Amino acid sequence: MLRFAANCLLLTSGEYLGLIESVRCESLELYKLTAHHLNKMLVSREISAVEICQSVFSRIKKVEEKVKSYITLIEERAFKEAKAVDKKIKNGEEISPLAGIPIAIKDVICTKGVLTTCGSKILSNFIPQYNATVIERLLRENIVMIGKTNMDEFAMGSSTENSSFFPTKNPWDLGRVPGGSSGGSAAAIAADEAIISLGSDTGGSIRQPAALCGVVGLKPTYGLVSRYGLVAFASSLDQIGPITKDVTDCALLLNYIVGYDPCDSTSLNYQPPNYLEALKDEIKGIKIGMLKELIGEGIEEGVKVNFKKSLSLLERLGAIIEETTLPHSDYALSAYYIIAPAEASSNLARYDGVRYGFRTSQKVEDMVEMYMKTRGEGFGDEVKRRIMLGTYALSAGYYEAYYGQAQKVRTLIVEDFKKAFEKYDVLVSPTSPTVAFKIGEKYDNPLAMYMSDICTIPVNLAGLPAISVPCGLSHGLPVGLQIIGPAFGEEIILRVAYAFEQAFGFKEKPTL
Ligand code: GLN
Repeated sequence: MLRFAANCLLLTSGEYLGLIESVRCESLELYKLTAHHLNKMLVSREISAVEICQSVFSRIKKVEEKVKSYITLIEERAFKEAKAVDKKIKNGEEISPLAGIPIAIKDVICTKGVLTTCGSKILSNFIPQYNATVIERLLRENIVMIGKTNMDEFAMGSSTENSSFFPTKNPWDLGRVPGGSSGGSAAAIAADEAIISLGSDTGGSIRQPAALCGVVGLKPTYGLVSRYGLVAFASSLDQIGPITKDVTDCALLLNYIVGYDPCDSTSLNYQPPNYLEALKDEIKGIKIGMLKELIGEGIEEGVKVNFKKSLSLLERLGAIIEETTLPHSDYALSAYYIIAPAEASSNLARYDGVRYGFRTSQKVEDMVEMYMKTRGEGFGDEVKRRIMLGTYALSAGYYEAYYGQAQKVRTLIVEDFKKAFEKYDVLVSPTSPTVAFKIGEKYDNPLAMYMSDICTIPVNLAGLPAISVPCGLSHGLPVGLQIIGPAFGEEIILRVAYAFEQAFGFKEKPTL
């Protein structure tokens, strides 16, 4: 304290006030709070948006070197946006519940004027000319964008190790992966380096990292959230969704990203409800189907134990739980690894060194050689593997045998879910078969890596909504509970998740 006072003597009065303010912010630890909590404090003028921003950036400065959640940070712009919110408050204007809330965005979502790499060398210099629809919507609410998060290249992976730049670490154990592909967004929330974040989910990439990092992640019904400006991986499966510290923030963020968008031809013309109104901690009489195929082989013991305890808790809350089946789920992973690479091989054809991003600097003889060298250098191994798989599956002569067959399996899985939802309000399973694994453990074994999404992939194939909520620790690492709903069943899954969260009271945090 003495040294602090002595140092203060050397400061100008402006610097002194700034220092006092930042000391106050640090002691308030605003970075630890949720968006709904911070909004109350903002509205009551207890704190300012600039103070929230200071708190989050000082946290980033403290832990980012260890966790590495971000590819890009936009501090200057964030403070400008925060100041604008404070001005609104000062002028007595009403503010949105998301105004002044620092958000981290997965680097697969286009942000005007801000580098958007998709975790790939081939887009390492790509600065979009436009915002994705979700970004436009959030900026309208005066949200404060603070940076773009690390991810597996083009969202292909389950560990964030496929990023062209660096791996992100799990805040619970820096020797382990945060999951993927939205690992940067999930780690940022777990490490309190952002208040809320956005991820994308093609086969599990929101829910699996949320589970491995002990946070909440929701994949919405296909078509509910616009994909305009989401760099395409597998267009019939991709969805953007929230990753947050609690279920209330998840519902809050969802409220502002949903809705019809004429720029996305798969966007659904559906009038969304206010998802916050779904949060009642009352689930008496709700019928829950436990998916027996998703708790069998390959599911780690510690995951099973926490899952079973979660079911007992839901039962104590008055839910009726029965075992049920998705008879074709065993084929989901195989169908996904035909359909997703097939779509990816087509979507990624656009990266040719002409229209976007990186181009080889090697000397080339002609156009074809330029394409080949650019793509050879610009894409990583996993992306090349998927392009080859997808191109093969779509080639004449094999198309019916692979792609056609996979689409038939997809229909059977859709039917399985339909049948299950005739009887149950929601379905449950663990989110991930394992807790966070060690960095490098599955990197050289793509098949082992692909198994990480065994519980999440069927949901994407059927276009359904599902949420992952923390449901305990196994050997000190978080486990996630997956709650799946019928199409447009976001309200019911949020309601069950909220009741579970309130009753369970998961309070553990990683120590960093
Ligand atoms: N891990 C899965 C894959 O690699 C899912 C990825 C995702 O949801 N984006 O394809």
